[in-house]
Amino acid sequence: MTTDDPRAELASLAASLRVYLEWHQDSGTSGFTRRARSEVAAAVAPAASMGAATEGSASATPSAEAAATALSLTAPSAKGDVPKHEETPVAKNEMAADARHTRLPLLAAEVASCTRCALAPTRTQTVFARGNPDAALAFVGEGPGADEDAQGLPFVGRAGQLLDRMIAAMGLSPQRDVYVCNIVKCRPPGNRKPEPEEMAACMPYLQEQLALVHPRVIVALGNTAVGALLDTKLGITKIRGQWKLYRGHTLVMPTYHPSYLLRPSPQQIEAKREAWQDLQLVMKELGLAAPRS
Ligand code: URA
Ligand code: SF4
Repeated sequence: MTTDDPRAELASLAASLRVYLEWHQDSGTSGFTRRARSEVAAAVAPAASMGAATEGSASATPSAEAAATALSLTAPSAKGDVPKHEETPVAKNEMAADARHTRLPLLAAEVASCTRCALAPTRTQTVFARGNPDAALAFVGEGPGADEDAQGLPFVGRAGQLLDRMIAAMGLSPQRDVYVCNIVKCRPPGNRKPEPEEMAACMPYLQEQLALVHPRVIVALGNTAVGALLDTKLGITKIRGQWKLYRGHTLVMPTYHPSYLLRPSPQQIEAKREAWQDLQLVMKELGLAAPRS
């Protein structure tokens, strides 16, 4: 997709650069000074809490549309193709709220006493979710690490801090606007990858969890989450940035796991840029404008 507004293009590039620099600073490889947000960002009111926003308000303002268009500039259009998916009304949050709010705590309690797989004996505690179950956007990772196992919450270690910066860069609150969980709820010893049997044993929990939360978009973080959610063996570098469907109805954006983005490598800079492109596609799909400082 292209636009002939050079200012919008410049603003989009500036926004990409800012986040890219923030991530860089995060991984300790460079410093930068915070600068004013882009003109596009300043012209567009930040999106309301996604739970409260309506489809109409998200796309009705021409400036929001311009921002969404500008945001897509850095991504090749072929990667932006959105498959036919369930058009969840944003008001879904009220519709299923009762079931969500009564059943999710029960499910979390079931998980807390689960012994279905080999990960049960070595865990400190199970790790169910964090964030807002009414959110329209969910992030799914692989499984708890040492910090998560200690605190009982997903993505609270270094990777989690980077994830929160990515979420903030989208103009969203990690507590209010997103729901965060994992494929397996117990820490694999030594942070090894979960075995296929462990993932298979745990998937029914995630399936029910996602059915209750019913997000409009799921961001699948890394190979394990992508493989389990989409039942594919395609590597993350092949599949990232392309809209897919979870169970044939819910949009999934596969992208790199934040741990991978933290790991120094010759590909790190490019991977961060690509991850930000992927998140921009998510923002566009959700009708979110570039954030304002
Ligand atoms: N990595 C994950 O995939 N999940 C977490 O919760 C933490 C790190
Ligand atoms: Fe149960 Fe999942 Fe933990 Fe295995 S990883 S014991 S299936 S909660």
